[in-house]
Amino acid sequence: MLAQAGWSVVVREAADTPGGGVRSAAITLPGYLHDLGSAVHPLAVSSPVFRSTPLAAHGLEWIHPTAPLAQVMDDGPAVLLHRDLEETVAELDGRDGQRYRAMMTPFVERWDALCGDLLAPTAPVRLPRHPFLMARFARYGLPAATTVARSSFAGGRARALFGGLAAHSILPLTWLGSAAFGVVLGAAAHAVGWPIPRGGSGALSRALVAYLESIGGTVITSAPVRSLTELPPTDALLLDLTPRQVVAVAGDRLSAGERSALSNFRYGPGAFKVDWALSAPIPWRDSRCGQAATVHVSGSLDEMVVSEAAPWSGTHADRPFVLVVQPSLFDPTRAPPGRHTAWGYCHVPNGSEVDMVARIEAQIERFAPGFRDVIAARSVMSPAGLESYDANLVGGDLGGGANTLRQIIFRPVARRVPYATGVPGLFICSSSTPPGGGVHGMCGYHAARAAMAAVGERV
Ligand SMILES: Cc1cc2nc3c(=O)[nH]c(=O)nc-3n(C[C@H](O)[C@H](O)[C@H](O)COP(=O)(O)OP(=O)(O)OC[C@H]3O[C@@H](n4cnc5c(N)ncnc54)[C@H](O)[C@@H]3O)c2cc1C
Repeated sequence: MLAQAGWSVVVREAADTPGGGVRSAAITLPGYLHDLGSAVHPLAVSSPVFRSTPLAAHGLEWIHPTAPLAQVMDDGPAVLLHRDLEETVAELDGRDGQRYRAMMTPFVERWDALCGDLLAPTAPVRLPRHPFLMARFARYGLPAATTVARSSFAGGRARALFGGLAAHSILPLTWLGSAAFGVVLGAAAHAVGWPIPRGGSGALSRALVAYLESIGGTVITSAPVRSLTELPPTDALLLDLTPRQVVAVAGDRLSAGERSALSNFRYGPGAFKVDWALSAPIPWRDSRCGQAATVHVSGSLDEMVVSEAAPWSGTHADRPFVLVVQPSLFDPTRAPPGRHTAWGYCHVPNGSEVDMVARIEAQIERFAPGFRDVIAARSVMSPAGLESYDANLVGGDLGGGANTLRQIIFRPVARRVPYATGVPGLFICSSSTPPGGGVHGMCGYHAARAAMAAVGERV
């Protein structure tokens, strides 16, 4: 946005490839391409800033899997979350389908309006543009996921579907606000889908870099910034860092109060991730799971509740909720012909050193007997491994900080312009600012606007 406005822009990137949590690489066997971080992008295709950027002209192509999501079930066929709302309604038992339709319809029909408010800096900076829609959203989104799932749905299928969506909050499903993720991700599936980039998620970062370069910006890789004192004078510095890192690089440029406020920022649980090179597709017991790029692997809402509470009490679930993505079923560029890739991760305590490979694979095997037999190779990333490839993944936290209700509203600290730091010209633009984690570009967009406003440019 700054380059578009005619500013001279230089990006300094610590890693040898740009993209941070949105990169792909060959990390198992030759010919297999894996997404190191993000894989599925409902928020990217909803993002006003990405939509208005000519990413397709710079090589980005979205692939929509047949269905956005499959939720496996212990005691019956999987629940498929289809693009089509009515097809999804038909997956659910009894009156649950009607209740699901009633919950989702207003948000699906007014998706752009909802995103406009959800992807904006939060109050007190700005009041919602669509207060009635947001009030309705708050009704479903503010409570705990368990409250919404149990009060809205009578059957296990709809409850598990909603619980799995809400588990993307990385919160205990009994905590206030966890339901919001269920509503947003469910509505997104119907409104815009859950697509994957052809050629791996890195294609999205490559398109962003190519566009930036086409308008005069520069990206310098293998260039970690250890202290702001290394940098030449600039009109604005935007730090794509989480609070702990901001304190480390900015040092005493920040006031003592600012350093203390940023140091109080709360990180969330970590992720433990496994990438697999597969000799065949995952042999799901319900073969319809092969219609979806994303599969939520956990038998019931109750099981998810136990799994998602564990990291917050410093423990590791025996049967973790495992988020699986199987992109090569829809994108043949990811693996040699007839071969496949997948990744799976579960939530663990921040910084955990416990090896979760056996538990993750046992969960998949439970719903896909023979899974272990098709594993040709695996790459394992513990929380420390994640942090070593991207320093923003502090303790393996992939959300840029815990999604507690307080930190959703005030992120990273409570102030009128959340991107500001109290130091003139110094801003934070990472997912530790509103609207938070996920690949949508809106944290950077709002931080750029804040920087422009600070130098008196019209935005
Ligand atoms: C395993 C995993 C799966 C995910 N799945 C999804 C998904 O499917 N869909 C989705 O929407 N989101 C997903 N996410 C979340 C998403 O990747 C993040 O929310 C998003 O990348 C955050 O963007 P960011 O710019 O804040 O930080 P990052 O993408 O982490 O970028 C920060 C950048 O700063 C660089 N950096 C750090 N320190 C320095 C320094 N001192 N000097 C110079 N450079 C530095 C890093 O190398 C990195 O390139 C996933 C994340 C992970 C880890």
